[in-house]
Amino acid sequence: MAIVIQGGHILDPGRFNGVGDLLIQNGKIAAIGRELNVPAGARTYAANGRLVAPGFVDLHVHFREPGFEYKETIQSGAASAVAGGFTTVCCMPNTNPVNDNQAITEFMLERARAAALANVLPIGAITKGSEGKELAEIGDLRRAGCVAISDDGRPVMNSLVMRRAMEYALAFDIPVVDHCEDLHLAEGGCMNEGIISTELGLPGIPAAAEDVMVARNVSLAELTGAKLHLAHISTAGSVRMVREAKSRGINVTAEACPHHFTLTEEVVRGFNTLAKMNPPLRTWQDLQAIKEGLRDGTIDVIATDHAPHAAQEKQQGFTEAPFGIVGLETALPLTLALVEEGILSLESAIDKLTRAPARAFGLAKGTLTVGADADVVIIDPQAQWEVDPTKFRSKSRNTPFGGWKVKGLVLTTFVGGRPVFESPVPA
Ligand SMILES: [Zn+2]
Repeated sequence: MAIVIQGGHILDPGRFNGVGDLLIQNGKIAAIGRELNVPAGARTYAANGRLVAPGFVDLHVHFREPGFEYKETIQSGAASAVAGGFTTVCCMPNTNPVNDNQAITEFMLERARAAALANVLPIGAITKGSEGKELAEIGDLRRAGCVAISDDGRPVMNSLVMRRAMEYALAFDIPVVDHCEDLHLAEGGCMNEGIISTELGLPGIPAAAEDVMVARNVSLAELTGAKLHLAHISTAGSVRMVREAKSRGINVTAEACPHHFTLTEEVVRGFNTLAKMNPPLRTWQDLQAIKEGLRDGTIDVIATDHAPHAAQEKQQGFTEAPFGIVGLETALPLTLALVEEGILSLESAIDKLTRAPARAFGLAKGTLTVGADADVVIIDPQAQWEVDPTKFRSKSRNTPFGGWKVKGLVLTTFVGGRPVFESPVPA
């Protein structure tokens, strides 16, 4: 079975940026260029100058299965992914039970195979039960198919445990992902600590709760030589420290989430729990620092931290409601807004969704190189649409972007050469 995507603006960051055709055969990229030799009977997609890019790679999603299937399953999460242009997603281990052993990893991979939508790659826990005490069997997790280790959401507080985790991770050649938060400094907080939290009378989470853990983790990465990936950095201090660490050659990469470069803590004024996430929305100065970090390459990756919750959970009071928002189906337009604003070139924006995340985790994804898996998106970067959470493929609708008029629409998503999503919205 052959597919040809004709007359697209093909953008494969660092490799190809121009008008051409893309030929897919047997699930792989077979050729890229002009006037290709197209086999008879090939199915044709007319791209008409629209963007043809590698499928996006999200290093940070929560698919809630096993344990919280009412929020999201691997099936519904994968459907949400491909609707947002993501063909590969990495699932955090804070399921129930926690993904701290081979059996859970294998279960997740089996569910992903059954869904047959996106490539779903589990991230294993650093410690058993993500309790921060005893290391999980990192070698077993790696062999079972985990692509990284993390105790996301319940970060390892004990620096000795983290050091040992990094030493094992180095030995098994797997990156360590950390949600940088000092749980003691952050305890009880539900928004950024500052003038607004004081005005609203809400307990705050200081920027320092993130900064001190970034500093610790960078030091431990320097000590051990392990590959460190910092999840969802949100503060000016984090950006500054990552920049400095990179300048000294420390093996660190960083990600930012669309909500942290789009919204500030001002949004919390309405006590809208859809503005409650962890790390919290920060100040305007932090947001500027995140944008500058994305612009100058300090922040390599854009990831969603897709965190589905049921409506009744988010309908509680601001202090009680759980942290997190869904993100897979809004990430593309929010990222393209940075291009519109002149912060990123189109190529750099696509890079942070494709090649850069693949590289951070050492995945053979995020590229249109001949021979690569044909994970491809066709995008209309100019198409305007209104975010309607009731239309999300995700089981959950907890987004602060409902009703936003945005630009940049995913038209078709291919995974392994199979079309797995077609936009119902005519572009
Ligand atoms: Zn996190």
